[in-house]
Amino acid sequence: MSPRKERNKIPAHIVQGIRDKRKKLLHGPYSCPKCGIDRLRIGIDVKLKEVVAVCVCGLEQKLDYVSAFEAIDYYNKCVDKFLKFYKNSISHES
Ligand SMILES: [Zn+2]
Repeated sequence: MSPRKERNKIPAHIVQGIRDKRKKLLHGPYSCPKCGIDRLRIGIDVKLKEVVAVCVCGLEQKLDYVSAFEAIDYYNKCVDKFLKFYKNSISHES
């Protein structure tokens, strides 16, 4: 008989939903920083220690392999790299 405990309990179906969403986020697809469509995929080759982010729009970016990284970490790196590159290309044009 503890109403407070009952209130804090999250229904199982909601917990499962969050888990599914997380799983999906870990493996992509992610929003592409170039075209904005959720078609960016992170390919990780553990054997060759190669990581590449590829999108259907033609964006392709090689990333440094870090064993502790998850796909989402590479995605963040990829976005950072792209934004830097994008900024540089703008400043070169003007
Ligand atoms: Zn794209």
